Amino acid sequence: MLTMTFKIKCISVLLIAFSLFSCTTNNMTDTANKPIVDTLIINGLVYNGEDKNPSKVNIGLCQQVICGIYPQHQQVTATNIINAHGKIVSPGFIDPHTHSLAELKSQDKKHNLNYLTQGVTTVVNGNDGDSPVDIKATVNMLKANGIGTNIAFFIGHNSVRRQIMGTAARYATPEELNGMKKLVEQAMQDGALGLSSGLYYVPGTYANTEEVISLAKVASQYGGIYDTHLRDESTFNIGFNAALDEAINVAKKADIHLHLAHIKALGVDVWGQSQLAIDKISKAHHNGISISADQYPWLASGTKLHSAVMPKWVMADSITAFHQRLNDPCLSKQLYSEIKDNIRRRGGPASLLITAFKDKNIVGLTLEQAAKLNNLSAVDTAIKLVQQGDVRVASYNMNSVDVERFMAQPWVVTSSDGTNGHPRKYASFPKKYQSYVKDKQILSLTDFIHRSSGKTAEILGLTDRGFIKEGLSADIIIFDANTLRAKADFSHWNRYSTGIEYVFVNGAMVIEQSVYLNKLAGKFIPKHLK
Ligand SMILES: [Zn+2]
Repeated sequence: MLTMTFKIKCISVLLIAFSLFSCTTNNMTDTANKPIVDTLIINGLVYNGEDKNPSKVNIGLCQQVICGIYPQHQQVTATNIINAHGKIVSPGFIDPHTHSLAELKSQDKKHNLNYLTQGVTTVVNGNDGDSPVDIKATVNMLKANGIGTNIAFFIGHNSVRRQIMGTAARYATPEELNGMKKLVEQAMQDGALGLSSGLYYVPGTYANTEEVISLAKVASQYGGIYDTHLRDESTFNIGFNAALDEAINVAKKADIHLHLAHIKALGVDVWGQSQLAIDKISKAHHNGISISADQYPWLASGTKLHSAVMPKWVMADSITAFHQRLNDPCLSKQLYSEIKDNIRRRGGPASLLITAFKDKNIVGLTLEQAAKLNNLSAVDTAIKLVQQGDVRVASYNMNSVDVERFMAQPWVVTSSDGTNGHPRKYASFPKKYQSYVKDKQILSLTDFIHRSSGKTAEILGLTDRGFIKEGLSADIIIFDANTLRAKADFSHWNRYSTGIEYVFVNGAMVIEQSVYLNKLAGKFIPKHLK
């Protein structure tokens, strides 16, 4: 929806100036000693990404960087002026947990428009332990293709483990561990942000803590962080509490910043444990361990049905071995009871909504409804479906008290964890704004912006963006606080959000008056900027 924002293009605009001083000094000036910029954003209410109140300043962009912050009455010469009167101006949002790499590599989705329309200008990939092993080759491909948003990478534990030892359900030998360390080291040299793990998933789940500590130490040597999808966010194996202890232990032993991916208390067994987790993290903070987390603002998670309900031992070695075990009569009793319990943990078969599958007839049904349709039990339906291909599910397993309690913590930042079939991929940032800033007022607008931009940049170690400050890369968004809105929901998961009116990526305007300009201005952002 277009709004009343308008833009004036001119060669030079004289803004009435009585200013005796300016926030900036050292840029190009014209003969009248006015600063010269390419683009000047005027009259907006500027949240600069820090944890502080907004100010009314004008922002100058020169090529790819923010080259001046000016009092509103200062004279500045600009080629292009954007009038942001009545609008919010903020750093472009940074999403620390996405699964957008396949699309960025594709010809038709490389624009990452579902993120740009949320105000996200930088996405992180390689989360949950799953990343390209050769970061450099992937980056070269992305550079050749062009991408719509900036991208940064973690190196994934599951991916390096799979490369060295497949999906073997055992601990690594010293030689295998050395092989993994070398891969992590190379990735860190190629600019990875740190190590990610997905200890809940195959094959990371087969690793012991020592293996993770060894690899995290390598990331730490390069100033990286440790980003983890916990071994257990529920009561699937060691339990949420012990999984958190394990992650903190890794941080302590490897001397590395711990970042908890999509923090949550998953399932009825652990509802209410957010307070215990927060207390544990506060205690660790007090003991000098650096910990942060991200969170997506929805009560349902999104995953694949086999990851959601199948025991991990069944999935070892290969898909063929997995399917053989599912059909082995000697295992059926144990399997049935474990799968049944996993479904119960997630709130029962009515809490699992099938969001993507090759048989469209069951998309939009819950596991309970699909079971009824097939005249089978929920467990037998799950066993049958997972053998027919990937089944994506939205798993309604969170409780609003836990979600809000985590969200209020100053160390929790916004993420999407975007995947197909779940509206979080198209609408997490606007949804958080709409539900938790405007409606429930869990966060102030300053908190929301800080924890979607500057704070996230600090956690990830991105030193050249995330704030509106002179000299930083010009990733900037302008939005209307009244119209920023999520349009996607569980029935229409891939609707673009509205209300983001302008987006600049590295100084290039890629959305103008809510219209995408078909520009690919994104870059790879390495951990160490040269
Ligand atoms: Zn995850």
